[in-house]
Amino acid sequence: MSQPTSNITLYDTTLRDGAQGEGIHFSLADKLRIAQRLDAFGMHYIEGGWPGSNEKDIEFFREAKKLKFKQAKLAAFGSTRRANAKVEDDKQVALLLEAGTPVVTLVCKTSVLHVEEILRTTLDENLAMIRDTIAFLVKNGREVIFDGEHTFDGYKADPDYTVACYQAADEAGASYLVLCDTNGGTLPSEIATITAALLAKCKKAKLGIHTHDDCGLGVANALAGIEAGALQVQGTVNGYGERTGNCNLVTTIANLQLKMGRRVLPDDQLAGLRDLSLFVDEIANQRPSGRAPFVGSAAFAHKGGLHVNAVNKLAASYEHIAPELVGNHQRVLVGELAGRANIMLKARTMGLQLEEKSPEALKVLDQIKHLENEGYEFEAADASFELLVRKSLGQYKPFFELVEYHVSIRKDSVHGFDLCEATIKISVDGEKVYTVAEGDGPVNALDAALRQALVRFYPKLEQMRLIDYKVRIIDSKSGTAAKTRVFIESSDGDTTWATVGVSFDIIEASWLALRDSVDHLLAHEPKIHVDLEQVVGESMKLL
Ligand SMILES: [Zn+2]
Repeated sequence: MSQPTSNITLYDTTLRDGAQGEGIHFSLADKLRIAQRLDAFGMHYIEGGWPGSNEKDIEFFREAKKLKFKQAKLAAFGSTRRANAKVEDDKQVALLLEAGTPVVTLVCKTSVLHVEEILRTTLDENLAMIRDTIAFLVKNGREVIFDGEHTFDGYKADPDYTVACYQAADEAGASYLVLCDTNGGTLPSEIATITAALLAKCKKAKLGIHTHDDCGLGVANALAGIEAGALQVQGTVNGYGERTGNCNLVTTIANLQLKMGRRVLPDDQLAGLRDLSLFVDEIANQRPSGRAPFVGSAAFAHKGGLHVNAVNKLAASYEHIAPELVGNHQRVLVGELAGRANIMLKARTMGLQLEEKSPEALKVLDQIKHLENEGYEFEAADASFELLVRKSLGQYKPFFELVEYHVSIRKDSVHGFDLCEATIKISVDGEKVYTVAEGDGPVNALDAALRQALVRFYPKLEQMRLIDYKVRIIDSKSGTAAKTRVFIESSDGDTTWATVGVSFDIIEASWLALRDSVDHLLAHEPKIHVDLEQVVGESMKLL
């Protein structure tokens, strides 16, 4: 394992700036879990929150004291003392000390406009606030990181005053002087020029860069800052943050390490980048973006026949890095543009041998084209695609036969209840099983009844759960009835897989996707046989 050699530090503010993003809500437990994960990943600084702004953040720091961090330094975020008051008497500053973190990050005004119009104090008093607060915290044993708000806008309007703010912080003993593009409206060239200008004016502290993505330049601006001499980059995992978000640290880390040769992490940690991104999305209850650079599911997905043909011969021909470096992998999409090369390659990634120009390969291609005409899409439904290939290769043996199912929905407005009920009759090795189950909705009831019938034959089904269910109405060419396409994503706790079903009827479309999902799980699991008589007996009791 090679060790990082770069002197650049990673500063994560997912738990503070990131938590200010629309739709992001972290519980206390979420914050503690993420902090530990960020530490394990290799972040150098983790900003936990603003103790002066809410009770949950105070609680976070109280709980975080009990945790052991491998290497990351925890930072509490806050602002300078109030105007015309003593720093020793400032409650907000006292809370920063009470947080008990080794690092305190201070947001300070550095633009004339904000000092005069927002803070409504004098320019000299603002400089005194910066000096007093930093010196007080340093005297109390804290490392202080200075986050200068609106650095770039302030510098453009009045460079002398912004420089004076940074020099005050430098003299007072801050470890990093961070330049913040708070409104996210600055261009990379301006970031580079102003960072270089401030670097020449500050003698002791290192510089850092904190950018926002309002112009879609959050990462580009952070990299421009680093190239101009900043030695710390601040951002959030997956770019969470106010408005359009913060600089995405995931993308930034990959670029620093793989494109700029600035090693911020050991190589094996970099391979955990995708996992980190997915972990934080999962905790934040966000759907991962397929198009996320480096780590998205589509980042190395190939669809065009020409591209697929080429990557089949040489992966690097259409891939800018080896996907494994960031923990991602190549995918081949089967869709409207599907040529034989796509199908061969995709089958091969699934461990299925399909010879080019073989009758099986032509059959699969024909079938995909036919099904796509019917409204199927296999791009996201890998498990359904695999079943289709297995069937063509004669490698599919049904695990059960459907005899019949019945789904009913009853609404009683007088007594105020909705009831969905499904009954299903299946046969396994010639033995018939009949079950009934209730559910929140018809598909839920059907899923429950099917699993109830099968679980004793295939105990593994107990671990399967549906994690996503999507319905699309497909434009009907006939102009009468519209078809429905149902996507189901399932998980057994270790892996996830996706299936698809299409029909004029939503229940039938759901059934087809559900059946593929169960088939996929069972095809990857040896069957365990149990006493059939007992099973039938117990199933009958359910009636
Ligand atoms: Zn920010």
